[in-house]
Amino acid sequence: MAGGEYKRVHDRSVADIEQFWGGEAERIYWHEKPRAALDDSRSPFNHWFPGGQTNLCHNAIDRHLPARADQHALVYISTETDQTRTFTYGQLYREVNRLAGVMRGLGVGRGDRVLIYMPMVPEAIFAMLATVRLGAVHSVVFGGFAAASLAARIDDAKPRLIVTADAGMRMGKVIALKPLLDEALGLASVPEAQVLMLDRGLVSGAARVAGRDHDYARMRGVHMNDEVPCEWVPSSHPSYILYTSGTTGRPKGVQRDTGGYAVALASSMEYIYCSRPGDAWFCTSDIGWVVGHSYIVYAPLINGSTTILYEGLPTRPDPGVWWKIVQDYRVTGMFSSPTAIRVLKKQDPAWLARYDLSSLKYLFLAGEPLDEPTSDWISRGLGVPVIDNYWQTETGWPILTAQPGIEDTPRKIGSPSFATYGYKLEIRDEHTGAALGNGHKGVLCIVPPLPPGCMSTVWGDDERFVSTYFSSFEGPPVYTTFDWATRDEDGYYFILGRTDDVINVAGHRLGTREIEEAVQSHANVAECAVVGVADPLKGQVPVAFVVVKDSTRIDSPVTNAAHEQEVQRAVDAHIGGIGRPSRVHFVAALPKTRSGKLLRRSIQALAEGRDPGDLTTLEDPTALEQVRNALKAG
Ligand code: AMP
Repeated sequence: MAGGEYKRVHDRSVADIEQFWGGEAERIYWHEKPRAALDDSRSPFNHWFPGGQTNLCHNAIDRHLPARADQHALVYISTETDQTRTFTYGQLYREVNRLAGVMRGLGVGRGDRVLIYMPMVPEAIFAMLATVRLGAVHSVVFGGFAAASLAARIDDAKPRLIVTADAGMRMGKVIALKPLLDEALGLASVPEAQVLMLDRGLVSGAARVAGRDHDYARMRGVHMNDEVPCEWVPSSHPSYILYTSGTTGRPKGVQRDTGGYAVALASSMEYIYCSRPGDAWFCTSDIGWVVGHSYIVYAPLINGSTTILYEGLPTRPDPGVWWKIVQDYRVTGMFSSPTAIRVLKKQDPAWLARYDLSSLKYLFLAGEPLDEPTSDWISRGLGVPVIDNYWQTETGWPILTAQPGIEDTPRKIGSPSFATYGYKLEIRDEHTGAALGNGHKGVLCIVPPLPPGCMSTVWGDDERFVSTYFSSFEGPPVYTTFDWATRDEDGYYFILGRTDDVINVAGHRLGTREIEEAVQSHANVAECAVVGVADPLKGQVPVAFVVVKDSTRIDSPVTNAAHEQEVQRAVDAHIGGIGRPSRVHFVAALPKTRSGKLLRRSIQALAEGRDPGDLTTLEDPTALEQVRNALKAG
């Protein structure tokens, strides 16, 4: 175990919450100071910094104006549209005020929801910041989600306003967004939502619905000189909703507070990310994911850094593009994902040596297991330490990580090191719920209180928050991560995969139930099972096993292949390309227990070439043979 400072800080953060977090709260601006660090009288519904009044946008922008009005706040680089746009803190302030004026004019006020369905453009960040400026609540939906997924999120969040763009771009190809939104609004039952569309000029003549759709540029012009004061909100006021997948087909709206989130992020920039105000910071995630919310937008801006927003691939126009950005902007800290690095690892390593990377101090990787070859390759190539972060949409910032801003503890490959300050962790026995000692595999749990920054509840469904996360074991409730873990004799944690039917594709969480529902939207699908199968590039990919209604449509390799594509397209249309099964295998029966439970684990084991395990409860033993044969047939 790490010796000195880390242990001292961690102990204090969980044992002396008032003193530790009360001190950390000083990092942000409070319109009204909190009267305490924590009110946990309604645990697990924590109230961090009760009595405090603040505003996220003020902390991200206004507070920096006296010292940093002329410093770059945001640098937008698009290798898709070949554009670079920079915004100082002063300019960011103006843009966000204009947009807040537009939103206010469209009737958005405190507590209203604003759904943001945007590509990686600065206006998406303006929209997030303008929303919280007004005390409204944003719900950013990843631009890669298709109409049905978007409609489900619209129905749940019931936005007053939806901010979108005509299109995004990927690999030089225009991907229209507005028609998907129109389709989603047709499916959803939120008739009163207004739409604000940024016209990037990528699609000619995007359809507009009169009275509902408003043009971003025109409205911006109308509100050019607006000054919109920050709405002071209680610390517990929701800042945003971010949907994430679980074991049911219905995504959960992770609800985040305001004050606790700001404090957690502000402290993390020093203790974990070693980033000083004024430093350039480059996080390659997408604003549609939690890493993008926390580490493209809020944390670097609250910290007074320069944040880089990158629209494009790491390999276009060439595989040196990210390293050129590091050189050109003197980036000190970079945050990416193992999948992105594995993509780069397939390229000529000379790209890593072409640019001056002397400004870079650390590379942080998160979202999925980090394998040793990837970690080694990039660490040697960049000449900087690679730090593995383990976290979840629910927590908003790392649960496990080395914390070099506190102490530069030695790192072990394959381990995201130790509990982040604020997190009291236990590994529990899956059946008995007993806390396990070092060397035993169990379920990773967080002993309440969840630290500041973590989710406060499931949007609109307190009961679901408790039943999903705090009800796995008898006795005093603990938060379940649904990840297997072990801890070695030196106190290092290792994450061993999910305990539930959630899979992780290129660092993004997908529920197999959600994909199964999308597969089932195809008219010829009678039954299906979707499992996550190990993939050298993306970590895992979904693979579907389907029982069809009409088998004459799959009676030759040609019709079979065509049918496979049809099913894949059904998933594209329902969820988006991110959920598309890499393969669809057709079988006559699915392996189930006699009580009708799908044996997903056995199917997954076969698909990964492993032993399918104990099959004594199998209803139809030939079903597994069919899966095996389908896999063999390729
Ligand atoms: P998401 O909420 O989409 O970020 O997914 C969170 C899940 O991704 C976790 O519950 C883990 O299963 C996985 N995960 C995230 N970071 C790591 C990591 N550093 N190592 C292993 N698994 C990770």
